[in-house]
Amino acid sequence: MPELPEVETIARQLRARGVEGREILSVKINWARTVEPLSAASFSKQVRGTIIDEISRVGKWMMFSLCSGKTILIHLRMAGSFSMEPGQHDRLVLKLSDGLTLHYRDTRKFGRWKLVDDPQEILCKLGPDALTRNFTQKYFRDAVGNRHRMIKPFILDQSIIAGLGNIYADEALWEAMIHPERLSDSLSAVECATLFKAIKHVLKVGVKNRGTSLGEGKTNYRDVEGETGENRAVVKAYGRSGQPCIRCETLLEKRTIAQRGTTFCPVCQSHR
Ligand SMILES: [Zn+2]
Repeated sequence: MPELPEVETIARQLRARGVEGREILSVKINWARTVEPLSAASFSKQVRGTIIDEISRVGKWMMFSLCSGKTILIHLRMAGSFSMEPGQHDRLVLKLSDGLTLHYRDTRKFGRWKLVDDPQEILCKLGPDALTRNFTQKYFRDAVGNRHRMIKPFILDQSIIAGLGNIYADEALWEAMIHPERLSDSLSAVECATLFKAIKHVLKVGVKNRGTSLGEGKTNYRDVEGETGENRAVVKAYGRSGQPCIRCETLLEKRTIAQRGTTFCPVCQSHR
């Protein structure tokens, strides 16, 4: 599932491909629910003829700011991706000016494109983006201390921190040597600071490596150029259950925590 580093990679590549500044000449919607609650006809009518001014990202949301004043907020959910080439699972196709066509692909059909007057309609529900200056150590310490929740679902909660999903949450907890079932308000000040730094670190490394692809299958993450991300080579916990911990060689365990498969080291992430 695309998380902050994957969405950031795609946004950067769309900018590098020159999508910004182009006019949307036509819209083809092959899976109408992609643009719900709008109908395909209403969505198309409102975006046709406008220019994509700017492409940006907040948390796991990608934003196309249009010169009409409206914004398209895109959430890739399980398997959404972009390509400049046509493909079997294209759900929405934007024909742009000067010969560029943008294909939105989604094997699982869960991704959504929301056309809104003001992006805050959706973004107001999010906590600070994990890689911005708004996500400060003080904010994190206060949020952790004020809640009595298991730390894994806590850091996955987009209303607290925007950007982390299952991969980078497991990585951050392994990095900080914190058990995923620890209660947030049981964390010491030092553990809290360590986890804060680990979250920023794993996400930055993820961006640098152009995201994490866990396999070669169709539902696995691919960037705009159709390449797999290189972060898999450096992943320490996620997807490594039964393999030795890189720090202490204990076999990593997998457990379902708050409905999410969670991989951790039972020794260096001990439950205290
Ligand atoms: Zn270990």
